[in-house]
Amino acid sequence: MPQPAVDSPPDTGPDDSGHFGPYGGAYVPEILTPVLEELKAAYATYKDDPEFQDELRTLLHTYTGRPTPLTYCDRLSDAIGGAHIYAKREDLCHTGAHKINNTLGQLLLADRMGKERIIAETGAGQHGVATATACAKFGMDCIVYMGAEDMERQRLNVERMRLLGAEVRPATSGSQTLKDATNEAIRDWVSNPADTFYIIGSVVGPHPYPTMTRNFHRIIGEETRTQLRAEIGTEVPDALIACVGGGSNAIGLFHPFLDEDVRMYGAEAAGQGLNGRHAATMSAGTPGVLHGAMSLLLQDDAGQVELAHSVSAGLDYPGVGPEHAHLHDTGRVEYRPVTDTEALDGVQLLSETEGIIPALETAHAVALFQDVADDLQSETSDPVIVFNCSGRGDKDMDTIAKHL
Ligand SMILES: *Cc1c(COP(=O)(O)O)cnc(C)c1O
Repeated sequence: MPQPAVDSPPDTGPDDSGHFGPYGGAYVPEILTPVLEELKAAYATYKDDPEFQDELRTLLHTYTGRPTPLTYCDRLSDAIGGAHIYAKREDLCHTGAHKINNTLGQLLLADRMGKERIIAETGAGQHGVATATACAKFGMDCIVYMGAEDMERQRLNVERMRLLGAEVRPATSGSQTLKDATNEAIRDWVSNPADTFYIIGSVVGPHPYPTMTRNFHRIIGEETRTQLRAEIGTEVPDALIACVGGGSNAIGLFHPFLDEDVRMYGAEAAGQGLNGRHAATMSAGTPGVLHGAMSLLLQDDAGQVELAHSVSAGLDYPGVGPEHAHLHDTGRVEYRPVTDTEALDGVQLLSETEGIIPALETAHAVALFQDVADDLQSETSDPVIVFNCSGRGDKDMDTIAKHL
């Protein structure tokens, strides 16, 4: 069991070249190098600009609905036994998930940079909806690339994006899912580097995206600290749990706690099991380059990226953010595989005990409660667990109903 470093804070990076240990960096076509340099410079300027930060803070408060509550889950805690469980309610953000924290941040940056054409990729449609929402609010042109297969599976989100004024362009290559939509978005970006801003939906992609996206989501962990102090008198719980697709909601909760004496657990999608089709990058991935960064990914011996599978479209990605790959290797965060069936049981448990219907992605975190409570009980009395309730389950009702 890895012990968190208390007196020597972990240097989680990135370094100047955007690396977290061996992972990260910027592996892009040459034409994008100056575009990334421009972005890095703009982000460096506005990150510490009080006016930019004020505008973002106001938007997050008056539009997104922050701060999101920290809910004590008493009936859930009783059902699990041996731990006090709190939910950080990102499901109550406008549009129903954490993703809008990042899209508003990146859009504000695009606005400052004078870019008027926004592109994005989306899998389940959640990042597409969050981007289309922000673009509507700012009056920006919005093009969202989405796998043709995903457009079929997530028709409601396609309609949402269109209603918000976005153009949804189908990606018809490969498996016609998120990986292919991302390829199309990168192709567009390479063709229109001057006027286009690419809003990436998780802590993935070339430097500085993983760092920038992480920093826009750190507010999740920062609010949690303040709320815990008011609630239980200390800012640091015994454990944090979050689901990991690309890893943005997880790092947003974890990052402000990395130097503290707290265990951290990431739940990754084990789909039909590690011997079947899955998306468990940490458990089964190897180092390689995908979508502009070095990280752990699912690939065959020849380096061909493999098809990922998860019942939750938001975790159905063959890669993971480079910072998570590093936190995995150093042992600071423990990543555990959760199957489709376990996640569906998690949906039911949280719904019945707390009246909160979680997204299928979020339910992967719920599936770890029992194991984590058992881990903690051997060392602490009355342990406190905070989990990131990353999104609400309305979008998944068809899938959930089919399985129950
Ligand atoms: C997109 C999504 C995720 C997965 O993305 P991360 O970048 O890993 O956070 C998790 N939960 C919900 C509700 C999502 O919409």
